[in-house]
Amino acid sequence: MGVKEAREVLKQFFGYDQFRPGQEDIIGNVLAKRDTVVLMPTGGGKSVCYQVPGLVLPGLCVVVSPLIALMKDQVEALLANGVNAGYLNSSQAAKEQQLIEQQCFDGRLKMLYVSPEKLLSAGFFSFLKRLEISLFAIDEAHCISAWGHDFRPEYLQLKNLKLQFPEVPIIALTATADRLTQKDILTQLYLQNPRVFISSFDRPNIHLQVQPGQKRMEAILDFLEERPFQPGIIYCLSRKATESLAAKLKEKGFNADYYHAGLSAKDRDKVQEKFLQDNIQIMCATIAFGMGIDKSNVRWVIHYNLPKNLESYYQEIGRGGRDGAPAEALLFYSLADVMTLRDIVTQGDNKEQALSLAKLDRMQQFAESTSCRRKTLMHYFGEEFDRDCGNCDICDNPPTSFNGTELAQKILSAVARTKETVASAQVVDILRGSRNQLTISRGYDQLKTFGAGREVPSQDWQRYIHQLINQGILEVAYDEHGALKLTNASQEVLFRGKKVELVKFQAPLPKEEKEKRQKKSRSGVENALFEHLRQLRKQLANERNIPPYVVFTDNTLQEIVEQRPTNKPAFLAISGVAQAKYEQYGEIFINAILSFLAQQADQQQARLKGTTHLVTYELLRQGKTPEQISEQRQVQLTTIYSHLATLYQQGYEVDLKPYLADWEYSRVREAILQTKQTAAMKPIFDYLEGEIDYMKIRLGIGRFNKENS
Ligand code: ADP
Ligand code: ZN
Repeated sequence: MGVKEAREVLKQFFGYDQFRPGQEDIIGNVLAKRDTVVLMPTGGGKSVCYQVPGLVLPGLCVVVSPLIALMKDQVEALLANGVNAGYLNSSQAAKEQQLIEQQCFDGRLKMLYVSPEKLLSAGFFSFLKRLEISLFAIDEAHCISAWGHDFRPEYLQLKNLKLQFPEVPIIALTATADRLTQKDILTQLYLQNPRVFISSFDRPNIHLQVQPGQKRMEAILDFLEERPFQPGIIYCLSRKATESLAAKLKEKGFNADYYHAGLSAKDRDKVQEKFLQDNIQIMCATIAFGMGIDKSNVRWVIHYNLPKNLESYYQEIGRGGRDGAPAEALLFYSLADVMTLRDIVTQGDNKEQALSLAKLDRMQQFAESTSCRRKTLMHYFGEEFDRDCGNCDICDNPPTSFNGTELAQKILSAVARTKETVASAQVVDILRGSRNQLTISRGYDQLKTFGAGREVPSQDWQRYIHQLINQGILEVAYDEHGALKLTNASQEVLFRGKKVELVKFQAPLPKEEKEKRQKKSRSGVENALFEHLRQLRKQLANERNIPPYVVFTDNTLQEIVEQRPTNKPAFLAISGVAQAKYEQYGEIFINAILSFLAQQADQQQARLKGTTHLVTYELLRQGKTPEQISEQRQVQLTTIYSHLATLYQQGYEVDLKPYLADWEYSRVREAILQTKQTAAMKPIFDYLEGEIDYMKIRLGIGRFNKENS
């Protein structure tokens, strides 16, 4: 039993040609029946690490998972791939459980998911003893650590697995990587000479970007406009904010809803389910949303407000792009948010306060970073990362430094002239000369610096202020509503000619340029086909009551769009199309692609010749019947009849007689004269009491128009 077999299983049941880095070594270790610990980020592909050995090894693979809500989806996904899987937990009726148990005895089941409660329930171990067990997989293994935030006391009892089944290998998997958790997993499970596999926690498919928090709504609308139908999450700080944002987006015609801990459990389940099924595009949520949500095709995550530390930030953006396809993380950053967060974290006890404030500082540094964001992030999590990632806003448009002394002086002088009493947003208003209630009521519009920096956009001013703060040239008094304060260094700049280096961010690409780039990545036709197939996927998923990504993931769908497979071998060659998936969906998708391509060709032909009815004329002249033309062009027969009518009316040589007898025409003619209708067909149809069908009426109107023109 080796890696070769594992590869075959990967292809047959998961439709993938290659293992991801790490997976192969891990699987090799498990197949050698050695205990294994896997630390891999969300979306890294942990499931394959136990599912493949579970299929290669003889016997039943038992998977312990604490997230009952996810079990059904996981089993559903396996079944869709032709793997005989089942689950046992407290949510099931006894009947259902018996059925699964019987399948275990028959040796039909390959993969059994159980909750820890079920595993530890009376008699379950003796049930397992009667079976051939190939492997125990402990998912979310960090739940064993009393130090972690997801501690589950039942997990401590899992040590009995090793005691009772010493010969069965164990694989423990988690996305939490800290050392303490690692140690707990090794010792608490009594693992024997385990090998620990630690993958990089980088999520390279997530593009990172940070924007100043001014005009968030406009920025979000632009962002969404570029991502039609793509599901995503907007994280807000407060419950109220989620509701009002969702309402605003709905008003703009977006399919948005909200989620927070204030909703009833029933309502929460309902919106969550709708989001899972792609029936809600945009979820405005507090951080309560996301725990245990296994939606792999979240294409973007926006932080409307600054998260309170990088751990939260990373966890939340990690809900994007779990399928490995490109995803976007957009963070809005403003000092006002920093102030709110400082208020929140300083409510805790003293020892925690210092730590929380330090973490908030690091969060801020990340938001203000002028070097690769991913580098900053990975270093924070203690991982080596010595290159620029090429997939963040800084790498896209590296900022350049310049002599910013004059700009700095303008900022400092505005701070001085307002007697160090105003916060950064108001300083920007003064520099830009914005006449609003505050600037006017306090007479700031009379200051010499009022409007001294109109030519610089406010977002840039914000960024320059952040940089001055980072350089110690300004300070923020968080206890005075964020008022900016001068420092010794400010005096140097203002009065003693000290030079200031500032960093200039490249203006984001203008819209047209962006569109051009996007077009390059996916053509209009590809977009249309993707949308077409996405709808088909949704319909199939809804009919089967499974999430759409269980049918095909976004990555697989994208590859189908690029390759347009129209036969079996081509379709099976698509990454993510397992044998069983092909059998269930292959032909449906192939037919959809074929009819899409036919429509495309048809439209092109029509464009070429002027209008579509001329294509019909061409085919008529070749001796085809309307039925044959309808078939060939994949156009409704009624449409072909209306082409006939138009052609006749326009004087083309077409003979209507075979389709409309003279007596039929005189009936239609009479109806037209009586109802005084030539546009709508229904009154004519009604007048004739259904004696003559719509297609003939359409032809009759054509002949009538011709005769009376
Ligand atoms: P995790 O449990 O680590 O969060 P999953 O096991 O759900 O991650 O895998 C994430 C995604 O990556 C899934 O869509 C899965 O099908 C896909 N995947 C896993 N292994 C491979 C592979 N070798 N090649 C391509 N895609 C893979
Ligand atoms: Zn980068």
